Amino acid sequence: MRFTFCPLFSGSSGNALFIGGGDTRILIDAGLSGRTVTEALASIGVLPETLDGILVTHEHSDHVKGVGILSRKYHLPIYANACTWAGMERQIGAVAPNLRREFESNESFFIGDFSIYPFSIPHDAADPVGYRVYYGAHSVATATDMGYYSHKVHDALSGVDLLVLESNHDIDMLRHNEHYSQTLKNRILGRSGHLCNEACGEALWQLYQTGVRHAVLGHLSHENNTPELALRTVCESLQAHGLEIGKDIRVDMAWRDHVGSVYEID
Ligand SMILES: [Zn+2]
Ligand SMILES: [Zn+2]
Repeated sequence: MRFTFCPLFSGSSGNALFIGGGDTRILIDAGLSGRTVTEALASIGVLPETLDGILVTHEHSDHVKGVGILSRKYHLPIYANACTWAGMERQIGAVAPNLRREFESNESFFIGDFSIYPFSIPHDAADPVGYRVYYGAHSVATATDMGYYSHKVHDALSGVDLLVLESNHDIDMLRHNEHYSQTLKNRILGRSGHLCNEACGEALWQLYQTGVRHAVLGHLSHENNTPELALRTVCESLQAHGLEIGKDIRVDMAWRDHVGSVYEID
């Protein structure tokens, strides 16, 4: 029962996450061009036509840009809740009715060998979700685009084997960014915006206490963060709670501009 997990791309400029296990293969989001996602999949030995579907977290373009193209080209079902469907329909173009799948947030459903739990997240989209995917005795998850770390999100992620967790921005870098309007800053910092590095570290400490031992930091802002800063801030926060990085908990990075590590869970 081997689970394969690869953050193909993660960040404000585009998101796509591959998960495979047994005969089941899915993408969560496809927020880059169809070609870029296809090439990223090829680099880890996956043909897009072998996917069982694309699951969409929410309708923002960095999550849906390539969804319609990939679905049309490779006849892939698209999974989203009703509000996300309404929000993304114009952006992704025509989808064949037989490839349209609709689920209810916070209710589990199956794709092949996977049991999938879409949980609500606090973000300024129609009905945004994170996903926890179960295969055999293991589970993996993604939780990005969150204004804050809610109880609901915490419960949904408790004890997960591996997850992508948002570490979007450094608060000081964002505050001092002269290219951002105050309105935009308020949006990112608000309860429906994005999780900062410090909040990510605290969330991970809470998750550690539920048994989480491996996290991948994702959805980093290009303008208001760096991978080094995100990693350092999160690790310092965990160390402040007495954890040893690499021993008590492993913290890795998902990249904005290149394919991340392929993780195998047995
Ligand atoms: Zn996003
Ligand atoms: Zn978003």
